[in-house]
Amino acid sequence: MTNNPTLIAGFEDIMVHIRNQEKRIKQLEDELYELREFKKDAEDTCGSHVIMEVMNTRIENAEKEALKTEQRYVLEKEMNKCHVQKINKLQDALYHRFNIQTCCICEDLYHISEIEVVLDCDYDPLDCCLNCRDNQGYTQCTSCMEYVDNSLVDTDDECSRCNGIRNEDMSSDDD
Ligand SMILES: [Zn+2]
Ligand SMILES: [Zn+2]
Repeated sequence: MTNNPTLIAGFEDIMVHIRNQEKRIKQLEDELYELREFKKDAEDTCGSHVIMEVMNTRIENAEKEALKTEQRYVLEKEMNKCHVQKINKLQDALYHRFNIQTCCICEDLYHISEIEVVLDCDYDPLDCCLNCRDNQGYTQCTSCMEYVDNSLVDTDDECSRCNGIRNEDMSSDDD
C-alpha cells in the first residue's frame, strides 16, 4: 500500500490553494505581457520620458511579484509533497502494525478483516468497509462475484465486463 486517497483528500484545501497560485502566476504573466506591449506602443508613439519611467517601475514591480509568488508556490508544493509522504508512511505503519485500514468511502478506520475491495465505475479497485460495500451503490456481479459500481451491472446483476466477455464468446461461436 503506497497511497492513501482518503488522507490525501484532506489536503484538498492545500491543492486548491496551489491551483489558485498557479492561476495567479498566469495572471501576472499576462499582466507583464500587456505591460510590455503597452510600453512598446508608448515608445513607438510618444516616447515620453515620464511615462517610460512609470511603465518601467510598474513592469519591475509586476516582475518582482510574479517571482515572489512563483517561489512561494514552489515551496508550498514541496511542503505538500512532504506532507503526503509522511501521511503515507504513517498510514503504512498503522496498516502493518495494527492491521488497520481506512475505508475509501466513509473514511473510517477498520480492521483489514472488515475491508473489502469494490470496483468503481472505471473498474478501479477501492478498499472500503462492508457497510459501504453494501449500502453505497455496489452490486455483486453474479458471474465474477466482484462488487462493482451499480452503473456497471445489468438487470441480471451481471457486470458489463462479464457481460461483454459472454457476448464475445457467443459471437465467436457463430463464426
Ligand atoms: Zn466505509
Ligand atoms: Zn462480473
